[in-house]
Amino acid sequence: MKRFFFLFVVFSLGIATISLVTNGYASENNTKPIYYWMKFKAKDKFARSKIADLGVTIETVVEDSVAAIGNARNLAAAKKSGMLELDFELTDKMLDFPQEDSNFHNYAELVQEMQKLAAQYPNLAKLSSIGTTREGRELYMLTISTDSDDLSRPAVFFMGGHHAREHLSVETPLLLAEHLLKSYTSRDLRIINLLSKRTVYILPSVNPDGAEFDVATDKYRMWRKNRTKNHDNSYGVDLNRNYGYGWGGGGASTYPGDDTYRGTSAFSESESLAVKNFFESHNNITITLSFHTYSELILYPWGHSYNKISNQKDFQVHKTMAETMAQWNGYTPEQSSDLYIASGDTTDWAYGQLGIISFTFELDPKMGMSEQFKPGGGFYPGQSYIYPVFQKNLEPCLYLLEYSDNPYRVIEPKPLAYGLSSPLW
Ligand SMILES: [Zn+2]
Repeated sequence: MKRFFFLFVVFSLGIATISLVTNGYASENNTKPIYYWMKFKAKDKFARSKIADLGVTIETVVEDSVAAIGNARNLAAAKKSGMLELDFELTDKMLDFPQEDSNFHNYAELVQEMQKLAAQYPNLAKLSSIGTTREGRELYMLTISTDSDDLSRPAVFFMGGHHAREHLSVETPLLLAEHLLKSYTSRDLRIINLLSKRTVYILPSVNPDGAEFDVATDKYRMWRKNRTKNHDNSYGVDLNRNYGYGWGGGGASTYPGDDTYRGTSAFSESESLAVKNFFESHNNITITLSFHTYSELILYPWGHSYNKISNQKDFQVHKTMAETMAQWNGYTPEQSSDLYIASGDTTDWAYGQLGIISFTFELDPKMGMSEQFKPGGGFYPGQSYIYPVFQKNLEPCLYLLEYSDNPYRVIEPKPLAYGLSSPLW
């Protein structure tokens, strides 16, 4: 602790010499944006929502403190807010791309892996693209089922990679696809049963443009958004603030240079629009799970409002499922806005517009306040996390698949004895 404090003093002194003339965002393709870590005092969700409205991205909530990332504009606003306790610039040195992270898939490797799975399991896996990104990359998805054309089969849509620097959220759904296909062919009865009655849609990377930008050099760039060129020459829209339910509300910035920039209109981005179009043309989707990192949370609507879901049954299904899944992965289940208000996210839209039971997982790691100052915070935990994080999230994924025929089953009274139609006495 003492050592940490000493390091922090060094950082704090260092920051005094840093010029704030930078606009805080990349105005050219090859320019690395300047980011700052900030620690705020915030005693409840209302205070945290005020912080989110500064345009920063809140990454960790620990008791009465919040750790967030933002640009120079956000830092200036944070200093005026009276809530800022500490801040320092993220240096290149802290974001070095570790060579030992080569197990993460860049876009070319991801596509190759998905093509390989589709070729290896032609009767179970179908590769398709649901659209293209701003930079023209295909948004590849695997459909996994014994009959992928049967649109009457209940389906779960798994997706990852909305945010560029959250690379672990791409690996988890990719490993899920691989696991389902391998288990089916090795005669795992549970998986055979699931794939014979359900359809699994897996879109590992919603934002490959951003992810590629984040790793295009030999250093992580801490990039979050997509790569749309905005009218002020800054880059990127926050895809998880661009969905069309409650769009334009709190916790989503109107400043194009901010990391939570919501875009010029709901679904202004080709990536979120592609997800929308696919969902709207596949009403067999009953449940969706969007993977993000980090903090070890299971979140459900609403994010744009402090209100609970007004339909009691729907609220209970979300809550029950979140609490059940938390038993397996150890994450904290809660309503999204219990953290802070954020509008325009995937789950608010999927549930609010389409009635789909919707979850966001913030995957590992979970970091204490002092650990925030590790290189890269929690975004780059290293490739040793890939498999264990998938493993602890496998059971929640299978559970969602099992209940996708009728998610409301989770709130029905349980039979007294499984498999018996009458009580034992
Ligand atoms: Zn995210």
